Amino acid sequence: MSDKDFEISFSHLKQTIPLLIKHKVPALPLNYALWYTYVSNESPELKLALDDALQQDRPLSEAKTKELYRQYLSENQEVKAWELRQSLEAMLIELTQSINDTHSETTSFKTTMDSCVDNLTKVEKEGLSIEEVMTLVRNLVKETQKIRRSTMSFNSALSDAQVEITALRSQLEQSQQEALYDALTGLSNRRYFDEELASHAVRPNLFLIIVDLDHFKKINDNYGHIMGDLVLKATAKKLQAACRDGAQAFRFGGEEFAIIVPNSNFSKARGLAETMRRAIEKIAVKDKRNGEILGDISASFGIAELKKGMNPLALVESADKQLYEAKHLGRNRVMPML
Ligand code: GH3
Ligand code: MG
Ligand code: MG
Repeated sequence: MSDKDFEISFSHLKQTIPLLIKHKVPALPLNYALWYTYVSNESPELKLALDDALQQDRPLSEAKTKELYRQYLSENQEVKAWELRQSLEAMLIELTQSINDTHSETTSFKTTMDSCVDNLTKVEKEGLSIEEVMTLVRNLVKETQKIRRSTMSFNSALSDAQVEITALRSQLEQSQQEALYDALTGLSNRRYFDEELASHAVRPNLFLIIVDLDHFKKINDNYGHIMGDLVLKATAKKLQAACRDGAQAFRFGGEEFAIIVPNSNFSKARGLAETMRRAIEKIAVKDKRNGEILGDISASFGIAELKKGMNPLALVESADKQLYEAKHLGRNRVMPML
């Protein structure tokens, strides 16, 4: 982001926060994105629709917010999370600075007041009546208190905003986290996988391993979904633990996993898949209800190499074909052989 863009998004941000407060909108990433776009006027259609909605119901209902978001934002993704976070950081720094500035202003004001009082003492010596001096002092004290009070409430408003923004930032981080990681296994998810593959698209010597648990449906049927979930978690752990030299494990979906193996060759990639296959065979999950140990777990593996000019989808298809072959030949194996 250039300095200019940064300044612009920062200024939009500064306008967005008060709007959220004014319209009593909870500081959730979705609301934030909506109002940020409103302020930046990147989508005149959204601005019209939101103005219109505000005429009709105030505060804006959650349903209406979601509808507007879906209609105008979710598809074109005008608000980039990264930019948002950058400007939130900047806002936090500025707020902290203002709080410090206000604090030192209060302090310097007090110093001025003190010297005023000193001067008044001198004036008294030079002939003003005690009564006159006291009136002056009283007025000054009143002034000071007034200014102190307003500074204090300004300070507390700033602190509130700071808390708000800190919360907003962590929500933003969390939603980014959720968008890229699988909640059950903690592995990177399919979306992450797609982004990762797209960014690798031009690299040579990249291999893809697709892993699919064997007869997983039976595990669910015989032991229940909770046990099934435990097996998925244990599998993810084994895959993750086996990853070396930049290999990356993903939950591809359901009971399927994917491993991206960069800078490798077929025999190394196959060796990695074999290690993983053996690790999965060793999984033993204890059923807490009766102490029974669930073992005999296995998975089938398909490997494919990213060839020059191949798109990510074709790579997945090619690994899938090998996986199908492994299933067909009796499961619990890695294909191709050579
Ligand atoms: P195959 O050896 O041919 O792969 O047989 P399979 O039973 O593993 O394959 P199938 O595709 O028939 O069944 C996959 C099952 O995985 C079906 C689905 O209920 C289960 N599954 C998918 N996601 C989850 C999950 O998150 N938790 C649990 N417990 N089960 C899941
Ligand atoms: Mg499957
Ligand atoms: Mg399966």
